[in-house]
Amino acid sequence: MASDHVDILIVGAGLSGVGAAVHLHRECPGKTYAVLEARGAVGGTWDLFRYPGIRSDSDMFTLGYSFKPWTNPKAIADGDAIRSYVRETAREHGVQQHIRFHHRVLRAEWDSATARWTVHAHRDDTGEDVVLTCGFLFVNSGYYRYDEGYTPDFPGVERYAGRLVHPQHWPEDLDYAGKRVVVIGSGATAVTLVPAMAERAGHVTMLQRSPTYVISLPSRDPFADAARRWLPAKAAYAVTRWKNVALGVANFQLSRRAPNLVKKFLRRAAKGKLPVGYDLDRHFSPRYDPWDQRLCVVPDGDLFTTLSAGTASVVTDTIDTFTERGIRLTSGEELPADVVVTATGLNLLALGGMTLAVDGAEVDLASTVAYKGMMLSGVPNFAMTIGYTNASWTLKADLVATYVCRLLRHLEDTGEQIVTPLAPDSDDLVPIIDLQSGYVLRAVDQLPKQGPAAPWRLHQNYPRDVLLMRHGRLTDSGVRFSRAGTPATVADRPAPVA
Ligand SMILES: Cc1cc2nc3c(=O)[nH]c(=O)nc-3n(C[C@H](O)[C@H](O)[C@H](O)COP(=O)(O)OP(=O)(O)OC[C@H]3O[C@@H](n4cnc5c(N)ncnc54)[C@H](O)[C@@H]3O)c2cc1C
Repeated sequence: MASDHVDILIVGAGLSGVGAAVHLHRECPGKTYAVLEARGAVGGTWDLFRYPGIRSDSDMFTLGYSFKPWTNPKAIADGDAIRSYVRETAREHGVQQHIRFHHRVLRAEWDSATARWTVHAHRDDTGEDVVLTCGFLFVNSGYYRYDEGYTPDFPGVERYAGRLVHPQHWPEDLDYAGKRVVVIGSGATAVTLVPAMAERAGHVTMLQRSPTYVISLPSRDPFADAARRWLPAKAAYAVTRWKNVALGVANFQLSRRAPNLVKKFLRRAAKGKLPVGYDLDRHFSPRYDPWDQRLCVVPDGDLFTTLSAGTASVVTDTIDTFTERGIRLTSGEELPADVVVTATGLNLLALGGMTLAVDGAEVDLASTVAYKGMMLSGVPNFAMTIGYTNASWTLKADLVATYVCRLLRHLEDTGEQIVTPLAPDSDDLVPIIDLQSGYVLRAVDQLPKQGPAAPWRLHQNYPRDVLLMRHGRLTDSGVRFSRAGTPATVADRPAPVA
């Protein structure tokens, strides 16, 4: 059991929090740390979500940690395998004994005089309130509410006599064998659920308001298989990881520069996997450009196979009302359903719902600017992990953790105690998450901003971030290093860096 003061306090024991702890352990071996986790288990997302077919939608060579090769033959892996990988990491690196489960962090208060955070948590197992202090607060709380997924207000839903389920809280007793299932949604969860449920259901209908880009990728990567045959595990993992990074960057850049070309490619790829005459325009031709929202990956085209087999279908329409027996659509069509799954998304939540105060003043997250996408202007000795929107989350999580370790070593080497980002002197601020997805747009006004140029601008580009965060300078006009007693707020703000 750690004492009540630690050098670094990590919030969250998901993929990022466990990875952060391993980086600390390896790169700052002298530092003390604890991990406060609200739930009773390691794994975060990969422990919470238990719906049929739950899997990654990015490849595990980039969703895996930089320091631990992904050795499972599947490149697109199921939830159980990812959960085991995170737990194995926590055990192998001794992180497990630093985790305090059932500790929900509610608030953290910074005091410049002592250069310490006082962190308030609530234990949901004992009902106790717990207070700890730390020198550096590292929040790895993910990006959404755990207690409640997002469900729109559907008219007439109270009349519906069938089973209504949200994928975030999958009922263990749900028996849908032979039943008529409607999955509402068109995102990653919906395209995962439809083929998985179609294996046992009578029929599955994916009801979407508008289409999403869906791309089929092989669940096994032949390049990775070959690399494993010829190279030691670590080298095989590294080359596959970089190969996938390069492909991801190329795909994203091409989508930004030549969206019509990418649209045509995605359309042709989908067409090749669907029956002749399938209404692609209606069901698989989104109105937005590729990567305005995340692309949905389907392993080995499983969704298309299911649609071709007729055990599932797609309906693109809007809901007029729920009825006792199912859903009536605006077109007048009725979808009878024994089970309706609302794969309608997440509720975004910054910093796991915790509040921050700096020297007695409340921090309004929406008026902070993120420095390198990981620290907040005016908030000392603080970092948070927000993964990429156009690539695997862990690529960024690894870089953020490495950067935090570099900062901690720099503080020690220079005798400084405090590092505080200073907001850019610019009104050209945009939301920190640049996706047009509904779950982002619903919460965007509560999130930190990003600035006009580096180091306040997110480029969503891993190779560029490797240079910036692993090798770039720690001292620039965006941060101030100081000693205990220096107030966190300063009147003079630096000009943006070109
Ligand atoms: C269904 C689903 C599939 C996904 N698939 C992919 C994918 O294929 N590729 C990809 O890159 N990303 C994917 N993501 C994004 C995914 O969340 C990340 O990949 C990754 O799991 C995030 O890890 P994390 O540790 O940062 O957050 P989480 O996994 O959300 O873990 C956060 C942890 O912090 C804890 N916590 C939160 N608030 C507090 C608090 N106040 N006090 C204490 N503890 C707290 C939580 O209990 C949790 O254990 C997916 C997300 C979902 C929901």
